[in-house]
Amino acid sequence: MKPRQIFQIFGIPVRVDGSWVLIFFTYIWIISTVYLPGFTPGLSRWLYFVFGTLTTILFFTSILLHELAHSLVARREGIRIHHITLYLFGGIARLNREPSTPKGEFLIAVAGPAASLGLGGCFLLVELGTASSHTVPLLQPIFHHLGWINIILGGFNLFPAFPLDGGRILRAFLWFRTGHHTNATNVTLTLSKWVGWGSLGCGVATWTSAPQFALSSLFFGVLLLSFLATVKPTESTALPLTPAPPESHLAAPPAKWFATTFVSLEPETPVSEVEVLRKQFPTCQSCPVIHNQRLYGLLNLKALPLNGSTTGTTPVREFMEPVQESFFVDSRSPLHQWEAAALRNGFGAIAVLDADGLVVGFVNLEQIRLYLTEK
Ligand SMILES: [Zn+2]
Repeated sequence: MKPRQIFQIFGIPVRVDGSWVLIFFTYIWIISTVYLPGFTPGLSRWLYFVFGTLTTILFFTSILLHELAHSLVARREGIRIHHITLYLFGGIARLNREPSTPKGEFLIAVAGPAASLGLGGCFLLVELGTASSHTVPLLQPIFHHLGWINIILGGFNLFPAFPLDGGRILRAFLWFRTGHHTNATNVTLTLSKWVGWGSLGCGVATWTSAPQFALSSLFFGVLLLSFLATVKPTESTALPLTPAPPESHLAAPPAKWFATTFVSLEPETPVSEVEVLRKQFPTCQSCPVIHNQRLYGLLNLKALPLNGSTTGTTPVREFMEPVQESFFVDSRSPLHQWEAAALRNGFGAIAVLDADGLVVGFVNLEQIRLYLTEK
């Protein structure tokens, strides 16, 4: 079943996976028939059900807030968010592009676990407050559960292995220390495999002494290794190193940016030809779609569904985002306006137009920021 959109928050569509509905009701069932009666026995079945539903809603709200934290920080880094999809123990925020700096990657990755740990702490504080309350006897177990589940969620996500947030934090750190995105990715992938095998070893070693822990450890190891088996280290070279084309002069004044040729596409170009472009400029994330030097739209190269025979002949214009105000700037406008537009449009780059409205350049956020800091 395809994920369905249920609502929007901060302009971000929130979707649920087909399996999620089943999980939602199973969660209500476990909380209201096992957990709550075990904690506070002797109450009416309806009361357990009402509070079980409330707990489940708050639990999934917590997951949503975790993903929202990732998304809102990503947006501040100039990355557009396509949607958030909720699954069992987490969600996925689909970003328009990868962060272009280690700092950006770190901030986006750490935001989720920070939100979960913070929420967990808040719920536990509320539990303390309700512990002495005898008027509503089910409030304490609810906040106890929500507090710990959020702390577990936040802590688990900090595990230094892909695809968890901790893996991204580790990569950001290595990327920051070495300056090599690809190497950082490959080292993190290797370490993630060690974590996976270590987890399996841990499960085997504790099989007789702590079977419950052993089972979850084995389960985590298998899950991690099966995910890592699908990721090839070489693929990571497709991730952006620096989005700036190699020939661009980062420290040069803006006028020189226009002298540099930039990658662009015609609206009618078949999408199959984009693959050539992507191979030629592996660090290029997006490009303007131009006809007769007029801007038609921007194209996110990373999000194109390539290698599919049905999409091969489809023209590029079907995949581009039609031109909007935030896609371009006047070449005479101040640089901070360029930066603002590149942040706002979600592409992290902008087309530069001359006085006649003709496209004379395509500049990305990193170029602008580097220029601004060096000035
Ligand atoms: Zn996360």
